[in-house]
Amino acid sequence: MPDIKEGEVGTMLSGQIKAGSTNPPSRFSLGDLIKIMCNPAPYCADKEDFKNSELQLGTEATRSGIVSILTKRYVNVSKNLVYMLPEGRVLIEALGENNYLTSVLTSGRMERYLKQIQKGEGSVSSFVKRTEDITKEIVEKLIKDADSWNFIEYANDIHKAEEVDLCKKCGAPVLERETFYGCNNFKKTNCDFRISKVVAESRSVRKT
Ligand SMILES: [Zn+2]
Repeated sequence: MPDIKEGEVGTMLSGQIKAGSTNPPSRFSLGDLIKIMCNPAPYCADKEDFKNSELQLGTEATRSGIVSILTKRYVNVSKNLVYMLPEGRVLIEALGENNYLTSVLTSGRMERYLKQIQKGEGSVSSFVKRTEDITKEIVEKLIKDADSWNFIEYANDIHKAEEVDLCKKCGAPVLERETFYGCNNFKKTNCDFRISKVVAESRSVRKT
């Protein structure tokens, strides 16, 4: 490199434009969700003084239950990849940021205090009291925030998803989702009628 000083003027003699586009991060798979719950630290902007191992979501026993609630209500899974449903976006926006409910630090703090209680260094009653206070605070804040919620766009998306046709298996409405058509009775009766929008197309040439 020649010695260039800040503010110096130069002339570009030649150049080429190379066309390209950036790619979004790859989608999470169902397995990724469990892995992230085991180690969410890389996704935390601020870990405070927690070690990665202290920040976990759920436990060995509860994680698959959490994923199953997600797939029943808030996301759909196609070819093992996770796609957000409008219901999921509503939930995320309703909860907002910097909230006790959405921060990994909340479970980190609770786990840390529970360990102190185990060692006889913490008080059960103050833990319960603090949990009650936080719960009250969360509910009061959500009730207040609810006045400014505007989910009409999402509600339209949810509504739009209806009336594609009737299910060939049980007669319930078939809903259009991002990547497939599926029976609306999936949640109620586990009816498994669904047809992918893409049939027999290789992933590498699939257009989005
Ligand atoms: Zn059905």
